[in-house]
Amino acid sequence: MITKVIPEEKVVATYKAIQRARRIVIVAHKRPDGDAIGSCLGLYHFLYAFERETFVILPDAIPSNMTILPSSSEIINYEQNVEHCKAIIAETDLIFCLDFNNLERIGALGTLIAQSEAEKIMIDHHLDYQPFADVCISHPEIASTSELIFRLICRMGYFADMSLQTAECICAGMLTDTGGLAYNSNSPEIYTIFAELLRKGVDKDALYRHLFNTYKESRMRLMGYVLSQKLEIIPECHTALFSLTEEELKQYNYEKGDTEGFVNLPLSIDGIIFSIFAREEKDTVKLSLRSVGNFPANKFASHFFEGGGHLNASGAESKLSLQETIDKIKQVLPDFCKSESW
Ligand code: 5GP
Ligand code: MN
Repeated sequence: MITKVIPEEKVVATYKAIQRARRIVIVAHKRPDGDAIGSCLGLYHFLYAFERETFVILPDAIPSNMTILPSSSEIINYEQNVEHCKAIIAETDLIFCLDFNNLERIGALGTLIAQSEAEKIMIDHHLDYQPFADVCISHPEIASTSELIFRLICRMGYFADMSLQTAECICAGMLTDTGGLAYNSNSPEIYTIFAELLRKGVDKDALYRHLFNTYKESRMRLMGYVLSQKLEIIPECHTALFSLTEEELKQYNYEKGDTEGFVNLPLSIDGIIFSIFAREEKDTVKLSLRSVGNFPANKFASHFFEGGGHLNASGAESKLSLQETIDKIKQVLPDFCKSESW
């Protein structure tokens, strides 16, 4: 028996909204990770039971290792199909917003959703949500949105009907947001849920291999380059800092998702509790921040770069150039470290 985390009235409201809807759209955040994609596809497969016309629309492309998930090929990439997505959303009764809690996080797709008169249901586990949806299921204490989807399905009374495909997608999301059960995974109920997913027939070991160990050679070489040539340690702040320019990424045939996980690597150095990775993208600088223990990576991201996220995993988009971003980090870090009790 798992605890009833989601309030009953929200479970009922979600169920009724699904029953009322004729067309359902599911969306998640930009640069979708395993939890964003896993929760969307898990819900998508679950909704088969209701025989509604259902679409998954993501703001941009999915990483190649996620194509293992069932029906990943049916995901519509908004960036590449703007007009098609507009037409779908215009005729939609219900929109599920998964794994993000602020429409600004999904760019132009967010504007489209804000303008839509469809009923909206947000299901998410990030801090500080914006109450933009009709039903907000927000649980920062839960490790992944995929886990929330599992809980929701059970509470709606459909656990017995949960398909292997739904279970696989949920498992992928739960593995992603806990680094393969390496962090954020002290809740005993996570293991109860995993046991149920395994009973559904999920091959967790194969899924893990696909998610974490099917990268390209060029990605490993890029990792080698960044660790040997670019990693800077700031010992007085127990911090590791590294960056990659667009040019460097190009040299290693960078594709979306190739730098996934890099930011965690320096945390395996004894004494390092904060890791910052800055990456040049088309017209922005993307920051990924990770910490261990009580050190608030999200506070650093929000305070200095208008970003956000979880205590130990946060991100932001810097409006400065890459060099200016790095300079600013180095300038503000010492005082920030001193002001935090960790
Ligand atoms: P990642 O480093 O994997 O891109 O992001 C880690 C976490 O940081 C995400 O799960 C999300 O909570 C948060 N995050 C990433 N990018 C942004 C951003 O640009 N703005 C905000 N508010 N949060 C972000
Ligand atoms: Mn997530």
